[in-house]
Amino acid sequence: MSQTTKSGQAPRIGLVSLGCPKALVDSERIMTTLRAQGYAFSRDYQGADLVLVNTCGFLDSAKQESLEAIGEALNENGRVIVTGCLGVEEEMIRETHPNVLAVSGPHQYEAVVGAVHEHLPPVPNKFVDLVPEQGLKLTPRHYAYLKISEGCNNRCSFCIIPQIRGDLASRPAASVISEAERLVKAGTKELLVISQDTSAYGLDLKYATSPYKGRQVAARFYDLAKELGDLGAWVRLHYVYPYPHVDQVVELMAEGTVLPYLDIPFQHASPNVLKAMRRPANHEKTLDRIKKWREICPDLTVRSNFIVGYPGETEEDFEFLLDWIEEAEIDRAGCFEYEPVTGAKANELPGVVPDEVKRDRFERLMEVAQDISAHQLSKKVGRTIEVLVDDVLPDRNRAVARSKWDAPEIDGQVLVDNATGVKPGDMISVTVTDSDEYDLFAVPAAVN
Ligand code: SF4
Repeated sequence: MSQTTKSGQAPRIGLVSLGCPKALVDSERIMTTLRAQGYAFSRDYQGADLVLVNTCGFLDSAKQESLEAIGEALNENGRVIVTGCLGVEEEMIRETHPNVLAVSGPHQYEAVVGAVHEHLPPVPNKFVDLVPEQGLKLTPRHYAYLKISEGCNNRCSFCIIPQIRGDLASRPAASVISEAERLVKAGTKELLVISQDTSAYGLDLKYATSPYKGRQVAARFYDLAKELGDLGAWVRLHYVYPYPHVDQVVELMAEGTVLPYLDIPFQHASPNVLKAMRRPANHEKTLDRIKKWREICPDLTVRSNFIVGYPGETEEDFEFLLDWIEEAEIDRAGCFEYEPVTGAKANELPGVVPDEVKRDRFERLMEVAQDISAHQLSKKVGRTIEVLVDDVLPDRNRAVARSKWDAPEIDGQVLVDNATGVKPGDMISVTVTDSDEYDLFAVPAAVN
Protein backbone atom coordinates (compact mmCIF):
# COMPACT_ATOMS: atom_id res chain seq x y z
CA MET A 1 0.00 0.00 0.00
CA SER A 2 1.17 3.49 -0.65
CA GLN A 3 -0.20 6.94 -0.01
CA THR A 4 0.48 10.51 -0.90
CA THR A 5 1.82 12.88 1.73
CA LYS A 6 -0.37 15.00 3.99
CA SER A 7 1.21 18.24 2.87
CA GLY A 8 1.71 17.29 -0.79
CA GLN A 9 5.43 17.91 -0.07
CA ALA A 10 8.34 15.70 0.95
CA PRO A 11 7.10 12.66 2.88
CA ARG A 12 7.35 13.31 6.63
CA ILE A 13 8.13 10.85 9.36
CA GLY A 14 7.67 11.19 13.08
CA LEU A 15 10.19 9.29 15.18
CA VAL A 16 9.76 8.13 18.76
CA SER A 17 13.01 6.67 20.07
CA LEU A 18 13.01 4.76 23.34
CA GLY A 19 15.75 2.90 25.15
CA CYS A 20 19.52 2.79 25.41
CA PRO A 21 22.31 4.58 23.46
CA LYS A 22 22.50 1.61 21.05
CA ALA A 23 18.86 2.13 20.14
CA LEU A 24 19.65 5.81 19.65
CA VAL A 25 22.40 4.92 17.19
CA ASP A 26 19.90 2.70 15.35
CA SER A 27 17.44 5.59 15.21
CA GLU A 28 20.21 7.89 14.00
CA ARG A 29 21.19 5.52 11.19
CA ILE A 30 17.60 5.05 10.11
CA MET A 31 17.09 8.83 10.10
CA THR A 32 20.34 9.44 8.23
CA THR A 33 19.31 7.00 5.52
CA LEU A 34 15.76 8.22 5.20
CA ARG A 35 16.90 11.84 5.14
CA ALA A 36 19.34 10.99 2.35
CA GLN A 37 16.43 9.55 0.41
CA GLY A 38 14.40 12.75 0.61
CA TYR A 39 12.25 12.14 3.69
CA ALA A 40 11.65 14.94 6.15
CA PHE A 41 10.99 14.60 9.87
CA SER A 42 8.13 15.99 11.86
CA ARG A 43 8.38 16.99 15.49
CA ASP A 44 4.72 16.22 16.15
CA TYR A 45 2.31 13.43 15.33
CA GLN A 46 -0.02 15.66 13.34
CA GLY A 47 2.61 16.79 10.86
CA ALA A 48 3.82 13.25 10.16
CA ASP A 49 2.65 10.98 7.33
CA LEU A 50 3.64 8.03 9.48
CA VAL A 51 5.36 7.42 12.79
CA LEU A 52 8.30 5.13 13.48
CA VAL A 53 8.52 3.84 17.04
CA ASN A 54 11.97 2.49 17.97
CA THR A 55 11.19 0.37 21.02
CA CYS A 56 13.03 -1.02 24.01
CA GLY A 57 12.23 -4.46 25.38
CA PHE A 58 14.92 -4.98 28.00
CA LEU A 59 12.85 -4.76 31.19
CA ASP A 60 9.14 -5.33 31.70
CA SER A 61 8.73 -1.67 32.51
CA ALA A 62 10.50 -0.76 29.24
CA LYS A 63 8.21 -3.16 27.34
CA GLN A 64 5.21 -1.51 28.89
CA GLU A 65 6.53 1.93 28.04
CA SER A 66 7.12 0.83 24.44
CA LEU A 67 3.61 -0.59 24.10
CA GLU A 68 2.19 2.64 25.47
CA ALA A 69 4.28 4.67 23.03
CA ILE A 70 2.95 2.56 20.13
CA GLY A 71 -0.61 3.08 21.40
CA GLU A 72 -0.12 6.82 21.68
CA ALA A 73 1.33 7.03 18.16
CA LEU A 74 -1.62 5.01 16.80
CA ASN A 75 -4.13 7.26 18.56
CA GLU A 76 -2.45 10.47 17.50
CA ASN A 77 -1.40 9.57 13.98
CA GLY A 78 -2.80 6.16 13.04
CA ARG A 79 0.04 4.97 10.78
CA VAL A 80 2.78 3.33 12.81
CA ILE A 81 5.86 1.22 12.04
CA VAL A 82 7.51 -0.49 14.99
CA THR A 83 11.19 -1.43 15.21
CA GLY A 84 13.82 -2.04 17.89
CA CYS A 85 14.24 -4.57 20.69
CA LEU A 86 10.57 -5.16 21.40
CA GLY A 87 10.15 -5.96 17.70
CA VAL A 88 11.35 -9.53 18.35
CA GLU A 89 8.02 -10.05 20.12
CA GLU A 90 5.92 -9.27 17.06
CA GLU A 91 3.01 -11.49 18.09
CA MET A 92 2.65 -9.75 21.42
CA ILE A 93 2.79 -6.31 19.75
CA ARG A 94 0.15 -7.31 17.18
CA GLU A 95 -2.10 -8.75 19.88
CA THR A 96 -2.13 -5.42 21.69
CA HIS A 97 -1.98 -3.21 18.60
CA PRO A 98 -3.30 -5.08 15.54
CA ASN A 99 -3.18 -1.96 13.35
CA VAL A 100 0.58 -1.38 13.26
CA LEU A 101 1.82 -1.32 9.66
CA ALA A 102 5.04 -3.30 10.13
CA VAL A 103 7.25 -4.72 12.87
CA SER A 104 11.00 -5.41 12.80
CA GLY A 105 13.65 -6.14 15.41
CA PRO A 106 16.81 -4.28 16.55
CA HIS A 107 19.47 -3.31 13.97
CA GLN A 108 17.17 -4.41 11.14
CA TYR A 109 17.75 -1.20 9.23
CA GLU A 110 16.93 -2.67 5.83
CA ALA A 111 13.58 -4.00 7.07
CA VAL A 112 12.61 -0.64 8.60
CA VAL A 113 13.62 1.37 5.57
CA GLY A 114 11.85 -1.19 3.32
CA ALA A 115 8.66 -0.86 5.38
CA VAL A 116 8.82 2.94 5.15
CA HIS A 117 9.25 2.73 1.36
CA GLU A 118 6.27 0.40 1.13
CA HIS A 119 3.91 2.52 3.19
CA LEU A 120 5.24 5.96 2.32
CA PRO A 121 7.19 5.88 -0.94
CA PRO A 122 10.04 8.37 -1.44
CA VAL A 123 9.83 10.95 -4.23
CA PRO A 124 12.85 10.22 -6.42
CA ASN A 125 14.33 12.65 -8.94
CA LYS A 126 17.06 11.00 -10.90
CA PHE A 127 18.66 14.22 -12.15
CA VAL A 128 19.42 15.48 -8.68
CA ASP A 129 19.30 12.56 -6.25
CA LEU A 130 22.58 10.96 -5.33
CA VAL A 131 20.98 7.88 -3.91
CA PRO A 132 20.00 5.95 -7.03
CA GLU A 133 16.33 5.32 -7.72
CA GLN A 134 16.88 1.59 -7.93
CA GLY A 135 19.35 1.53 -5.08
CA LEU A 136 17.27 2.48 -2.09
CA LYS A 137 19.14 0.05 0.06
CA LEU A 138 20.82 0.86 3.30
CA THR A 139 24.50 1.70 3.23
CA PRO A 140 26.99 -0.66 4.87
CA ARG A 141 27.91 0.44 8.36
CA HIS A 142 31.31 1.86 7.36
CA TYR A 143 29.90 4.71 5.37
CA ALA A 144 26.84 6.91 5.83
CA TYR A 145 25.09 9.73 4.04
CA LEU A 146 24.83 12.89 6.09
CA LYS A 147 22.15 15.31 4.93
CA ILE A 148 22.94 18.88 5.93
CA SER A 149 19.98 20.73 4.47
CA GLU A 150 16.71 20.26 2.69
CA GLY A 151 15.20 22.09 -0.25
CA CYS A 152 16.81 24.56 -2.62
CA ASN A 153 16.72 28.28 -3.47
CA ASN A 154 17.52 27.70 -7.15
CA ARG A 155 14.84 27.16 -9.75
CA CYS A 156 16.32 24.94 -12.44
CA SER A 157 13.71 24.39 -15.12
CA PHE A 158 13.99 20.57 -15.20
CA CYS A 159 13.67 20.16 -11.45
CA ILE A 160 10.71 20.02 -9.08
CA ILE A 161 12.72 19.73 -5.86
CA PRO A 162 11.87 23.29 -4.71
CA GLN A 163 8.17 22.54 -5.30
CA ILE A 164 8.36 19.31 -3.34
CA ARG A 165 10.84 20.16 -0.63
CA GLY A 166 10.63 23.93 -0.49
CA ASP A 167 13.37 26.55 -0.22
CA LEU A 168 16.73 25.85 1.40
CA ALA A 169 16.33 24.82 5.04
CA SER A 170 19.70 24.09 6.66
CA ARG A 171 20.14 22.06 9.82
CA PRO A 172 21.98 23.86 12.60
CA ALA A 173 25.70 23.03 12.54
CA ALA A 174 25.60 21.44 16.01
CA SER A 175 22.84 19.04 14.94
CA VAL A 176 24.82 17.88 11.89
CA ILE A 177 28.09 17.54 13.79
CA SER A 178 26.47 15.63 16.67
CA GLU A 179 24.88 13.20 14.24
CA ALA A 180 28.21 12.76 12.45
CA GLU A 181 30.04 12.22 15.72
CA ARG A 182 27.59 9.51 16.79
CA LEU A 183 27.97 7.81 13.42
CA VAL A 184 31.77 7.88 13.67
CA LYS A 185 31.61 6.48 17.21
CA ALA A 186 29.36 3.68 15.92
CA GLY A 187 31.97 2.69 13.29
CA THR A 188 31.31 4.93 10.29
CA LYS A 189 34.60 5.53 8.45
CA GLU A 190 33.27 7.76 5.70
CA LEU A 191 30.69 10.54 5.82
CA LEU A 192 29.05 11.45 2.53
CA VAL A 193 27.78 14.99 2.89
CA ILE A 194 24.70 15.60 0.79
CA SER A 195 22.01 18.20 0.22
CA GLN A 196 20.57 19.83 -2.89
CA ASP A 197 23.11 22.66 -2.83
CA THR A 198 25.88 21.96 -0.34
CA SER A 199 27.85 25.15 -0.88
CA ALA A 200 24.73 27.22 -0.03
CA TYR A 201 24.60 25.58 3.40
CA GLY A 202 23.57 27.98 6.15
CA LEU A 203 22.50 30.86 3.89
CA ASP A 204 18.91 30.58 5.16
CA LEU A 205 20.12 30.61 8.77
CA LYS A 206 22.27 33.66 8.05
CA TYR A 207 25.16 31.39 9.11
CA ALA A 208 23.90 31.40 12.71
CA THR A 209 26.05 29.67 15.29
CA SER A 210 24.88 26.82 17.50
CA PRO A 211 26.57 25.44 20.61
CA TYR A 212 28.62 22.28 20.19
CA LYS A 213 30.80 21.00 23.05
CA GLY A 214 30.99 24.37 24.76
CA ARG A 215 31.78 26.44 21.69
CA GLN A 216 29.80 28.11 18.96
CA VAL A 217 29.93 26.68 15.44
CA ALA A 218 28.66 28.68 12.47
CA ALA A 219 26.29 27.11 9.93
CA ARG A 220 28.74 27.86 7.14
CA PHE A 221 30.02 25.45 4.49
CA TYR A 222 33.70 25.96 5.36
CA ASP A 223 33.20 25.75 9.15
CA LEU A 224 31.05 22.64 8.85
CA ALA A 225 33.49 20.91 6.49
CA LYS A 226 36.35 21.62 8.89
CA GLU A 227 34.43 20.38 11.95
CA LEU A 228 33.39 17.19 10.16
CA GLY A 229 36.94 16.64 8.91
CA ASP A 230 38.21 16.91 12.47
CA LEU A 231 36.08 13.90 13.54
CA GLY A 232 38.67 11.60 11.94
CA ALA A 233 36.50 9.91 9.30
CA TRP A 234 36.73 10.50 5.57
CA VAL A 235 34.49 13.38 4.58
CA ARG A 236 33.27 13.47 1.00
CA LEU A 237 31.38 16.48 -0.33
CA HIS A 238 28.57 16.05 -2.80
CA TYR A 239 26.45 18.58 -4.68
CA VAL A 240 28.80 21.46 -4.33
CA TYR A 241 28.17 24.42 -6.64
CA PRO A 242 31.26 26.30 -7.82
CA TYR A 243 30.75 29.48 -5.80
CA PRO A 244 33.87 31.49 -4.91
CA HIS A 245 33.88 30.44 -1.24
CA VAL A 246 34.46 26.83 -2.30
CA ASP A 247 38.15 27.84 -2.83
CA GLN A 248 38.62 27.86 0.93
CA VAL A 249 37.18 24.36 1.24
CA VAL A 250 39.60 23.15 -1.45
CA GLU A 251 42.36 24.34 0.90
CA LEU A 252 40.95 21.95 3.51
CA MET A 253 41.27 19.23 0.87
CA ALA A 254 44.88 20.17 0.18
CA GLU A 255 45.73 19.86 3.86
CA GLY A 256 43.92 16.51 4.15
CA THR A 257 41.04 17.57 6.42
CA VAL A 258 38.37 16.52 3.91
CA LEU A 259 38.76 14.26 0.87
CA PRO A 260 40.10 15.87 -2.32
CA TYR A 261 36.86 15.14 -4.10
CA LEU A 262 34.18 17.47 -5.37
CA ASP A 263 30.91 16.33 -6.83
CA ILE A 264 29.54 19.27 -8.82
CA PRO A 265 26.38 18.67 -10.82
CA PHE A 266 27.24 20.92 -13.78
CA GLN A 267 24.51 19.32 -15.96
CA HIS A 268 25.78 21.23 -19.04
CA ALA A 269 28.33 23.79 -20.21
CA SER A 270 26.84 25.49 -23.24
CA PRO A 271 25.58 28.97 -22.25
CA ASN A 272 22.39 28.46 -24.30
CA VAL A 273 21.49 25.22 -22.55
CA LEU A 274 22.50 26.51 -19.12
CA LYS A 275 20.21 29.48 -19.70
CA ALA A 276 17.33 27.23 -20.74
CA MET A 277 18.02 25.12 -17.67
CA ARG A 278 18.16 28.27 -15.50
CA ARG A 279 21.33 26.96 -13.90
CA PRO A 280 23.26 29.07 -11.43
CA ALA A 281 26.76 28.96 -13.05
CA ASN A 282 28.85 30.59 -15.74
CA HIS A 283 30.95 28.16 -17.77
CA GLU A 284 34.08 30.32 -18.30
CA LYS A 285 34.45 31.37 -14.71
CA THR A 286 33.87 27.76 -13.76
CA LEU A 287 36.73 26.54 -15.96
CA ASP A 288 39.05 29.09 -14.35
CA ARG A 289 37.82 28.05 -10.94
CA ILE A 290 38.48 24.35 -11.58
CA LYS A 291 42.01 25.21 -12.78
CA LYS A 292 42.61 27.24 -9.65
CA TRP A 293 41.37 24.40 -7.46
CA ARG A 294 43.75 22.00 -9.13
CA GLU A 295 46.60 24.41 -8.36
CA ILE A 296 45.56 24.54 -4.71
CA CYS A 297 45.00 20.78 -4.49
CA PRO A 298 46.68 18.82 -7.33
CA ASP A 299 45.15 15.57 -6.06
CA LEU A 300 41.59 16.85 -6.56
CA THR A 301 39.07 14.64 -8.34
CA VAL A 302 36.07 16.37 -9.90
CA ARG A 303 32.94 14.38 -10.46
CA SER A 304 29.97 15.71 -12.34
CA ASN A 305 26.70 14.81 -13.91
CA PHE A 306 25.43 15.95 -17.31
CA ILE A 307 22.09 15.93 -19.08
CA VAL A 308 22.11 15.47 -22.87
CA GLY A 309 19.24 16.09 -25.25
CA TYR A 310 17.78 18.96 -23.23
CA PRO A 311 15.02 20.79 -25.17
CA GLY A 312 16.72 23.16 -27.59
CA GLU A 313 20.18 21.55 -27.31
CA THR A 314 21.80 21.83 -30.76
CA GLU A 315 24.71 19.80 -32.12
CA GLU A 316 26.85 22.89 -31.56
CA ASP A 317 25.78 23.11 -27.90
CA PHE A 318 26.57 19.45 -27.45
CA GLU A 319 30.04 19.76 -29.01
CA PHE A 320 30.69 22.76 -26.80
CA LEU A 321 29.89 20.51 -23.83
CA LEU A 322 32.25 17.76 -25.02
CA ASP A 323 35.12 20.27 -25.45
CA TRP A 324 34.39 21.75 -22.06
CA ILE A 325 34.46 18.36 -20.33
CA GLU A 326 37.84 17.69 -21.94
CA GLU A 327 39.27 21.04 -21.00
CA ALA A 328 37.99 20.80 -17.43
CA GLU A 329 39.31 17.22 -17.25
CA ILE A 330 36.21 16.01 -15.43
CA ASP A 331 37.62 12.89 -13.80
CA ARG A 332 34.30 11.17 -13.28
CA ALA A 333 31.28 11.97 -15.41
CA GLY A 334 27.78 10.59 -15.23
CA CYS A 335 25.21 11.27 -17.93
CA PHE A 336 21.43 11.15 -18.31
CA GLU A 337 19.38 11.47 -21.45
CA TYR A 338 16.85 14.21 -20.75
CA GLU A 339 13.32 13.10 -20.05
CA PRO A 340 10.46 15.25 -18.78
CA VAL A 341 9.71 15.37 -15.08
CA THR A 342 6.01 15.88 -14.34
CA GLY A 343 5.41 19.44 -13.17
CA ALA A 344 8.76 20.84 -14.36
CA LYS A 345 8.95 24.11 -16.34
CA ALA A 346 11.24 22.47 -18.92
CA ASN A 347 8.25 20.59 -20.28
CA GLU A 348 7.06 23.83 -21.90
CA LEU A 349 10.37 24.43 -23.72
CA PRO A 350 10.49 24.18 -27.53
CA GLY A 351 13.02 22.10 -29.47
CA VAL A 352 12.41 18.57 -28.22
CA VAL A 353 15.43 16.43 -29.14
CA PRO A 354 14.57 13.08 -30.81
CA ASP A 355 15.33 9.94 -28.80
CA GLU A 356 17.92 8.61 -31.26
CA VAL A 357 19.84 11.91 -31.11
CA LYS A 358 19.79 11.78 -27.30
CA ARG A 359 21.11 8.21 -27.34
CA ASP A 360 23.87 9.15 -29.78
CA ARG A 361 24.93 12.11 -27.63
CA PHE A 362 24.85 9.98 -24.51
CA GLU A 363 27.20 7.45 -26.11
CA ARG A 364 29.55 10.13 -27.43
CA LEU A 365 29.72 11.83 -24.05
CA MET A 366 30.41 8.59 -22.24
CA GLU A 367 33.21 7.80 -24.69
CA VAL A 368 34.91 11.13 -23.98
CA ALA A 369 34.35 10.68 -20.25
CA GLN A 370 35.86 7.21 -20.37
CA ASP A 371 39.01 8.45 -22.11
CA ILE A 372 39.51 11.20 -19.53
CA SER A 373 38.87 8.81 -16.67
CA ALA A 374 41.35 6.25 -18.05
CA HIS A 375 43.98 8.95 -18.50
CA GLN A 376 43.48 10.42 -15.02
CA LEU A 377 43.56 6.99 -13.37
CA SER A 378 46.72 5.95 -15.21
CA LYS A 379 48.53 8.76 -13.36
CA LYS A 380 47.86 6.97 -10.06
CA VAL A 381 49.80 3.82 -11.00
CA GLY A 382 52.81 3.36 -8.73
CA ARG A 383 51.38 5.41 -5.88
CA THR A 384 50.79 4.04 -2.38
CA ILE A 385 47.36 5.09 -1.13
CA GLU A 386 44.85 4.44 1.64
CA VAL A 387 41.71 2.57 0.61
CA LEU A 388 38.50 1.71 2.42
CA VAL A 389 37.37 -1.90 1.93
CA ASP A 390 33.72 -2.33 0.91
CA ASP A 391 33.68 -6.05 0.25
CA VAL A 392 35.88 -9.14 0.09
CA LEU A 393 35.89 -12.02 -2.40
CA PRO A 394 37.59 -14.76 -0.33
CA ASP A 395 37.68 -17.32 -3.17
CA ARG A 396 39.76 -14.86 -5.23
CA ASN A 397 41.67 -13.49 -2.26
CA ARG A 398 40.56 -10.06 -3.44
CA ALA A 399 39.22 -7.00 -1.67
CA VAL A 400 36.91 -4.53 -3.36
CA ALA A 401 37.84 -1.13 -1.99
CA ARG A 402 37.64 2.57 -2.76
CA SER A 403 40.19 5.34 -2.69
CA LYS A 404 39.64 8.94 -1.69
CA TRP A 405 38.80 9.57 -5.37
CA ASP A 406 35.88 7.11 -5.46
CA ALA A 407 32.43 7.66 -3.99
CA PRO A 408 30.41 4.52 -3.31
CA GLU A 409 27.85 3.39 -5.89
CA ILE A 410 28.73 6.01 -8.50
CA ASP A 411 32.50 5.87 -9.07
CA GLY A 412 35.08 3.17 -9.73
CA GLN A 413 36.79 0.83 -7.30
CA VAL A 414 40.22 -0.28 -6.22
CA LEU A 415 40.56 -4.05 -6.66
CA VAL A 416 43.15 -5.32 -4.22
CA ASP A 417 44.77 -8.73 -4.77
CA ASN A 418 46.60 -10.78 -2.10
CA ALA A 419 44.11 -9.36 0.39
CA THR A 420 44.43 -12.05 3.07
CA GLY A 421 42.74 -11.24 6.36
CA VAL A 422 41.12 -8.05 5.11
CA LYS A 423 37.50 -7.27 6.18
CA PRO A 424 34.83 -4.85 4.95
CA GLY A 425 35.27 -1.54 6.75
CA ASP A 426 39.08 -1.91 7.01
CA MET A 427 41.22 1.01 5.95
CA ILE A 428 44.40 -0.37 4.35
CA SER A 429 47.44 0.91 2.56
CA VAL A 430 47.93 -0.38 -1.00
CA THR A 431 50.23 0.20 -3.93
CA VAL A 432 48.51 0.80 -7.29
CA THR A 433 49.82 -1.61 -9.93
CA ASP A 434 47.49 -0.95 -12.87
CA SER A 435 44.41 0.95 -14.03
CA ASP A 436 41.66 0.77 -16.64
CA GLU A 437 38.81 3.09 -17.65
CA TYR A 438 37.15 3.21 -14.24
CA ASP A 439 39.07 1.12 -11.72
CA LEU A 440 42.47 0.82 -10.12
CA PHE A 441 44.26 -2.47 -9.37
CA ALA A 442 46.50 -2.78 -6.35
CA VAL A 443 48.25 -5.01 -3.83
CA PRO A 444 48.71 -4.39 -0.10
CA ALA A 445 51.62 -1.98 0.31
CA ALA A 446 53.58 -4.26 2.63
CA VAL A 447 53.79 -7.20 0.20
CA ASN A 448 54.65 -5.19 -2.89
S1 SF4 B 1 20.03 23.31 -7.81
FE1 SF4 B 1 18.51 23.12 -9.42
S2 SF4 B 1 18.52 20.92 -9.89
FE2 SF4 B 1 19.46 21.13 -7.89
S3 SF4 B 1 17.75 20.90 -6.47
FE3 SF4 B 1 18.02 23.08 -6.83
S4 SF4 B 1 16.53 23.54 -8.43
FE4 SF4 B 1 16.85 21.31 -8.43
